[in-house]
Amino acid sequence: MTLTCDDCQAQIKGRLFGLLKATPSTCTNCPRNLCTECAGNQALIPFKKGEDPPPIAKESIQSYCKECFQNTSVLDYSKAYDIVEPENGVNAKTMTLIWVHGGGSSRIMFARHAPLFANKNYRSILIDLPGHGTLVDSTTLTLDECTNTVKCILEKENCDPLRTIYIGASFGAYTGFHVLGHLKDKFAGAVMMDCGQNVGPDCSLKARLGLWMLRKMASSMSNQSLMNAMIPAVKKSKADFHLVETCYAAGMFFQQGKAQCDCLHAVRPAAIIPELEFPILFFNGSEDHRDSENVWLSHCNDKRSSLHVYPGGDHFFCHDSRFVDDMMGRIAQFIETLRS
Ligand SMILES: [Zn+2]
Ligand SMILES: [Zn+2]
Repeated sequence: MTLTCDDCQAQIKGRLFGLLKATPSTCTNCPRNLCTECAGNQALIPFKKGEDPPPIAKESIQSYCKECFQNTSVLDYSKAYDIVEPENGVNAKTMTLIWVHGGGSSRIMFARHAPLFANKNYRSILIDLPGHGTLVDSTTLTLDECTNTVKCILEKENCDPLRTIYIGASFGAYTGFHVLGHLKDKFAGAVMMDCGQNVGPDCSLKARLGLWMLRKMASSMSNQSLMNAMIPAVKKSKADFHLVETCYAAGMFFQQGKAQCDCLHAVRPAAIIPELEFPILFFNGSEDHRDSENVWLSHCNDKRSSLHVYPGGDHFFCHDSRFVDDMMGRIAQFIETLRS
C-alpha cells in the first residue's frame, strides 16, 4: 500500500522504516498522514489564544498537519501582517513603525511590544518575513524578497516616508540593512537590535563557524528537534517579557535556516550604512556577540544615531522586563526627535 502525505502530496515511502524514525508520521490532532519532512516542520507548542503559556516541557511540542498547525497557531492566517492602531486613531502626524522579527520567528515576536505604543500617535505594523509565519509556503526567503515584502506593505498602507520607522531585531535587523539600502527614501529612521556581530562576507572565523553550525543544524534537524534544542536556551535566559509566548505560540520556522544563513552571510552593513541619510538607533545586550557594533555606529551619516548596550542582556534582551520599559522609552524619544 502506498500512502501520500496529506500536506505535500509526496509519496510516503517505507512505512515500516518510517515507524522507526523519531518524528511522527501522522498529525497529532487529526488522522492525516504526513511525510517525515512535513511532520517535522509543522511543530508547535500548543497555546490557547489569550491564555497563559503552558510550561515548556519537551512532550508538549506537537507535530501538526498544515491545517491543524494554522488553527493552533496564534497567528491569523487570513492576513500576512497585523496593524496596531493608535488609541486616538490615525492622522496626518501619525508615525508608522514597521516591526521586523528575528530568524525562525514571525510577527508575534513584537506582538506584546507594539500595543505599549498605542497611547502614542504611533501606528505599528507587525510583518512576517518571507518563509516565516503566514508566508511560510508562499514566498522564498531571499534578501530581495524581504525588500519586496516590506515595499508592498509600505505601498499598501500608504506609509509616509517622512513618518515611517524600520524596527528590526536579529535577522530582521541584518536583512534590514539590505532592505533599507534598497528603500532608503521610504524611511525616516531605523531601530536595529541584536545585530552587533559582523556575519557578512568579510566576517571573522568565529562568526563563519557559527553560521556553518547553524546551516548544518538546519539541514539535518527537523523543526521539532530544533524546538527541543531551543527550549534550554530560552529557559536559561533571564528574559521574561512574554518570551515563551512570543517564541512558541506561533510556531518556529527553522526550515528557513539554510536560507537565513545565506542571507546573513551576504549582507555588508558597513557598505550600506554610509548610504543612509537617516539616523539609526542600535541596541544590544552585553552578553551577545557584538564585534562590530561600534563600526556600524561610526558609519552612520546622521549624528543623531546612537548605540545602547544593556548590561547583562543576552540575545533575548528585548524580551527582558529589566530593559523593556527603558528600551521602549528610548525608541519613543528617538521617534520624537524625527518628528520635528
Ligand atoms: Zn509532506
Ligand atoms: Zn491535522
